[in-house]
Amino acid sequence: MTRLIFLGPPGAGKGTQAQMLCQSYDVPHISTGDILRAAVKEKTDLGLKAEGFMKAGELVPDDLILGLIRERLSKEDTANGWLLDGFPRNVEQAEFLNALLEEIGQSCDVVINLEVPDDVLVERLLDRGRVDDKEDVIRNRLEVYREQTEPLIALYDGRNQLQSVNGNQELSLVTDELTKIVES
Ligand code: ADP
Repeated sequence: MTRLIFLGPPGAGKGTQAQMLCQSYDVPHISTGDILRAAVKEKTDLGLKAEGFMKAGELVPDDLILGLIRERLSKEDTANGWLLDGFPRNVEQAEFLNALLEEIGQSCDVVINLEVPDDVLVERLLDRGRVDDKEDVIRNRLEVYREQTEPLIALYDGRNQLQSVNGNQELSLVTDELTKIVES
């Protein structure tokens, strides 16, 4: 059983590392960013509501995200565990998740914080060139991260669930460190 939360700023490499770990441990990679981008592409109701926030680098309102997570975590493919990437992203989402996990009789094993310095993040995101990877939007996403998501580091640390990993090193070295944590 592997249940993990990936924290860390945009560009830290959460998505890339999450994909590798999920393959190794055969658990679903639940990325709210991926779910939202798919919804935008398909022009679903969720996608139409979320698109403007995403383009501006703002968080999509909680009422669009929470139900989606509840549904996703109740699917059968989560029997073996899950990896949450991009959720929770603020204190309200973390509290919702806490209550939800209690309700469904699950608990998170570890919260991993991928650390990367700001100048490296901006460089990586500019290289990636997604629609929300323009310089002013990147700056806003980093600000939103500092204000809304970073407080979760102290929150999970206070619950003794946090492990930090240096994300500013070669991909395979990051994967090695993450594997050690998952297997400890
Ligand atoms: P990154 O980590 O590079 O910012 P993500 O794919 O995780 O990329 O998120 C992209 C965008 O999707 C965010 O800027 C935000 O608008 C929206 N989003 C993703 N996850 C959430 C969430 N849990 N709550 C609110 N908005 C979210």
